Amino acid sequence: MAVAGTQESKKPGPLKMARHQLAVAAKHLDLDEGLHNVLATPKCQIIVNFPVVMDDGSVEVFEGYRVLHNLSRGPTKGGVRYHPDVDLDETTALAMWMTWKCALVDIPYGGAKGAVRVDRKRLSKRELEKMTRRFTSEISFVLGPNTDIPAPDMGTDAQVMAWMMDTYSMHKGYTVTGVVTGKPVPLGGSLGRLEATGRGVIVAAGEACKFLNRDLSGSRVAVQGFGNVGSVAARLAEENGCTVVAVSDAQGGIYSESGLPVRTLTERYSHREGGMREFKDCDQITNEELLALDCDILIPAAVSEVIHQENAKDIKAKIIVEGANGPTTPLAEDELSDRGVMIVPDVLANAGGVVVSYFEWVQDLQAFFWEEDEVTHRLEKIMRHSFGSVLATMEQQKTNMRTAAYIIGVKRVADATVTRGIYP
Ligand code: NAD
Repeated sequence: MAVAGTQESKKPGPLKMARHQLAVAAKHLDLDEGLHNVLATPKCQIIVNFPVVMDDGSVEVFEGYRVLHNLSRGPTKGGVRYHPDVDLDETTALAMWMTWKCALVDIPYGGAKGAVRVDRKRLSKRELEKMTRRFTSEISFVLGPNTDIPAPDMGTDAQVMAWMMDTYSMHKGYTVTGVVTGKPVPLGGSLGRLEATGRGVIVAAGEACKFLNRDLSGSRVAVQGFGNVGSVAARLAEENGCTVVAVSDAQGGIYSESGLPVRTLTERYSHREGGMREFKDCDQITNEELLALDCDILIPAAVSEVIHQENAKDIKAKIIVEGANGPTTPLAEDELSDRGVMIVPDVLANAGGVVVSYFEWVQDLQAFFWEEDEVTHRLEKIMRHSFGSVLATMEQQKTNMRTAAYIIGVKRVADATVTRGIYP
């Protein structure tokens, strides 16, 4: 299937992918052309160029983005990414994906995303703080607990969220915990948020196994990306009886036929890129080799478009659970689906993060905090329920899982748009 009528290159780019995926769902839903256009277009795209005084006294100018895709179902929600290759198109695609994800798991948000083009590793802690505070200030006119609520994504973490919350609060003159989620727990963060995305990924992996009459326990798992999502997913896979045969980060990966000691790797290396390659009892592999390993479950949990038309044929996993956003291109997905590989799409598989972000926001607004068991129980319930709805739609509409997930998410947003009507 060509993307949006064009000859797809190996990597069409996230925005083309996102628009193609929407177009497939729109066709199933027989969406009116005007409504389809509304949903394919972001409400607001902000580009900011802002200076930061670096530690050596020089001034560097950074480019940042915040894209609000759709507000029909509530305030916008979405992470902030710090990555040297990010651009406005990718940020827009990520914002669109957030819209469908929030609608699919039925939480009252629209989608957004933010980003700064920066290699975080290059910055000192002080420079990172100054850049974060200035970026927050630049986009503060859209931020707020009732308007747009950021969270962590690649390259950002609880500390970055704490600086964003503090900067916004300083402008307001009082503390506004609900303006960001993924904060440290003592600053209004939620228990269970740090693990939420990885936990959701493993719940999704378990549901996929159930559907295919397989056992999660005993499955051989490979995880690409060893950050927040990948390291937690690998640890919980191990705790669920899986053999984690490979993990990787941006520098490359490690492999052990008999399984890696994930907890030890997490404690030692999850916050030091490349560090895992110091680990001795294993083989070193590239990220490409990791994707092609003989395993049952493959969890891409890093960057987009790593599974594309050229390497799809090499993939041996029976189940792919998309921890990352947009890791599989449409042509690769077609090929894998034809081969019977089950792909649990990002909008479902990694929705655990935004679900617990929603719980955090609710707790902040009420200034009343939940125990971790309650967070986990409610998260798992939403993940399982959403997974079941996607399976039912998939069987009813005779589609793959992604299109089924989109049919549910896009329909909810389209219905909200039509019911609200177009102002004036
Ligand atoms: P992170 O910054 O904590 O970790 C990213 C990891 O990926 C690091 O180990 C990094 O070394 C590795 N990496 C970077 N480039 C790579 C490459 N080219 N090949 C292999 N590994 C590479 O980021 P994260 O928060 O874990 O996010 C990972 C993915 O999950 C992203 O696609 C993000 O959008 C998605 N996601 C994150 C959350 C969340 O709650 N953090 C929620 C939903 C989706």
